[in-house]
Amino acid sequence: MRYLPKLFLCCSAWLLLALTANATLIEEGKSDYQIFLSSEATSSEATAAAELQSFLAQITGVTLPIVHEKGSAPSILVGQSAEASDALGGLDFSAFKADEILLKTVGKDLVLTGERPRGTLYAVYELLESEYGVRFWSPEATDVPEKKTLELPKVNHRYAPTLFYREGFYDMLQNNPQFSVRTRNNGHFFNIPEEWGGHLPIHGFCHTFNLYLPVSKHYSEHPEWYSWIDGKRSDAYTQLCLTNEEMRKALLAEILKRLRQEPDTRVLDLSQNDNYRYCQCEKCEAFAKEHGNQSDLLIDLVNYVARAIEEEFPNVMVETLAYQYTRAAPKSIFPHKNVMIRLCSIECDFGRPLDSESNRAFADDVRAWSKVAPLLFVWNYVTNFTKYYIPHPNWEYLAADIRFLIAHRVRGIFEQGSVGPSKIADLPELRAYLLSKLMWNPEQDENKIIQEFLEGFYGPAAPHVAEYLALMKSAIAGHPEFKLICYQSSTLQWLSDEKLVAAWNAFEKAKEKVASEPKYRERVEFAALPITFAMLERPETFNMKSLEKIDRKALISQAFEASRKAGTRIFSESGMTEERVRGDIERLNRIFSSTGPKPDFIGSQNWFAISAEQCMCGPGLYVFSDSDAEADGGRAARLPNTTSEWAVQFQSAPRGKYEVYAELRCDNAAEGNAFTAGTYNTLTRQSQSIAGKASDIAGKTYKTIKILEAELDPDIYIYVAPAKNEAAGNLWVDRLILVEIP
Ligand SMILES: [Zn+2]
Repeated sequence: MRYLPKLFLCCSAWLLLALTANATLIEEGKSDYQIFLSSEATSSEATAAAELQSFLAQITGVTLPIVHEKGSAPSILVGQSAEASDALGGLDFSAFKADEILLKTVGKDLVLTGERPRGTLYAVYELLESEYGVRFWSPEATDVPEKKTLELPKVNHRYAPTLFYREGFYDMLQNNPQFSVRTRNNGHFFNIPEEWGGHLPIHGFCHTFNLYLPVSKHYSEHPEWYSWIDGKRSDAYTQLCLTNEEMRKALLAEILKRLRQEPDTRVLDLSQNDNYRYCQCEKCEAFAKEHGNQSDLLIDLVNYVARAIEEEFPNVMVETLAYQYTRAAPKSIFPHKNVMIRLCSIECDFGRPLDSESNRAFADDVRAWSKVAPLLFVWNYVTNFTKYYIPHPNWEYLAADIRFLIAHRVRGIFEQGSVGPSKIADLPELRAYLLSKLMWNPEQDENKIIQEFLEGFYGPAAPHVAEYLALMKSAIAGHPEFKLICYQSSTLQWLSDEKLVAAWNAFEKAKEKVASEPKYRERVEFAALPITFAMLERPETFNMKSLEKIDRKALISQAFEASRKAGTRIFSESGMTEERVRGDIERLNRIFSSTGPKPDFIGSQNWFAISAEQCMCGPGLYVFSDSDAEADGGRAARLPNTTSEWAVQFQSAPRGKYEVYAELRCDNAAEGNAFTAGTYNTLTRQSQSIAGKASDIAGKTYKTIKILEAELDPDIYIYVAPAKNEAAGNLWVDRLILVEIP
């Protein structure tokens, strides 16, 4: 008995040693290891094996063979297989949750597996990131450390994300399926092929009333299917009359037809169009009043469809939006078990947490829906739709908001960032990276993720980019009265001149730090753009001593060149072009670049001309861009003389005293006037105008007409309108010309 404890001690020491000593995977360019992939592996498991092989080769220079017979050689087992199940003690893979991963060292082997179709890919990336230091910063920037020797890690890690739908709405993710998989995004827009694990598409995606029952197709025969508004049925883009039984039957038939055509559908959207014009017929109004909210009526309709399809399509969820007038949860009609709710935060203040006082109404809606929705998703807004290109200081609560939503049973998040610009925005690479990390695992420390990203992506400039972020966070925190909605036209309300200039200086230092490192320099120059544009929108800051030497014309050119180089196509959700933004910024900075030739009557004064086509208000309705051989560039704005709408408006007038001219013509030398033109002050609501005779401007040739002389500023706009004189025919406007009065 005396010897037994000693013997036991001895054994356990050996055991401990065996458990802690890492096997060596690759040593000095050599390895005994193989990657085992079952011959019954899925195509995405095969991709996972190829990804592992490729990255290990990039790290060490050694390409491990991929084999389909395990044999006795030490192995990394990739994917689901009988061999992996045996190694894991007979694990039943069918018990995996959505996108679940499992990494486990078993003796000399390592198992990387997970739920099909994506889990194994995610397990491989988990290994590469957590154990081997690989980083997927952006589609163009992957850090792969170089090492001669790699240990086989001792791991036992099993994890399933709470959010089974994760979507960062950014071009760089959408346009790069590989990158979206590597960052664990799996939502609707990613277009990830099956061999890369696929994704979770939503049939119709959103606002589908008009997709299923288009007004253009059905209104003439069934006006009663559409919204009753102001005493009549509307044939405009409104909503459906949700209580109409015949409409419901037609809607259901259309949805069944679509599901039968696309049997792989798992989620089908059935949601309101993008407007507030819901049906106000007696029956719909009475229904909403009796049962609670407009959302009760919507859910009643959605339940009708959901119940009718559940037997034939037991795996399909019918999804609807809780948006604008249906955002509040229903009071008495609750979603059926196969209904999914996507709640939209579009009205929120993103400078405060979603569960703060400022967003109480929304947080209450989250709580209320979380009690009644069988499956709850959230459509969240993380960008500035009005101007993608200025700072948007919502950094502080991105992580807290995801955690708040998850705590209230939210299982899918769509984070709407900037799409279409490709890619001007406020540090879009960091946003896409951070949001992806947090949606995968919201328990991670967001500040650590940010810090690591800054160091990895901006290199030596990282401390200065961090200073920029700190300045933005403190600026918004200093204005608790200001609501940071997702439509911001300037930074004036929350960002002081001092902090703006400090941020500018931080980026100047950042650029200096990486001046000789092109890889980082290009990234920093792009990151600096939102502050550059915010400064250029506040030209008076350039009067400061330290900044007065800056050549603003050159600065503007460099800024747009950098944004173009990054692939920027548009500057706002509504599609503002570079030409438009550049024109606004140049005029604010009193740099006038003109459209077309200089008119003869102008001497040496400052002047500029803007094409009327760039100033069209109500295009397609009151004003049309048409070809006209006499016009500058062969095109002009045509205003039918059937209205007196101010259909040409130049809305960003420069500050100063100007003569204002318009180049005009009309079709016919009729009696009476052909146009009116003038200025309108949006603050004082005062206007100044002239009217002009058709006989003065009739014919093919444009006449330059002086509209007025005025003291202009950005609150004043200049307009041209037809005179509602049909006999005069079309009014044509080529250019507006401003000549500075010294
Ligand atoms: Zn109705």
